[in-house]
Amino acid sequence: MKSDIRICSAWRDAHERPVYTLSSNCPECGADAINSAPAPFNPEDPYGEYRRALKRRAHE
Ligand SMILES: [Zn+2]
Repeated sequence: MKSDIRICSAWRDAHERPVYTLSSNCPECGADAINSAPAPFNPEDPYGEYRRALKRRAHE
C-alpha cells in the first residue's frame, strides 16, 4: 500500500493555503480530501485561476 498524501478539495474556499492530510477528509473543514498528485495548481500563484474566473464573470 503506497502512502497517499491527500489535499483538502475545498482548500481554496476554506483555507488560505493547501491543507494536506492522510485521511479521506480534511481535518480542518471536513471536506473531501483528494489525491494531491495530479493537483495542477501553481504554488506561486494558487489563486490565479480563481482570480481569472472572477474577472471573466465581472466582465459579463
Ligand atoms: Zn479543508
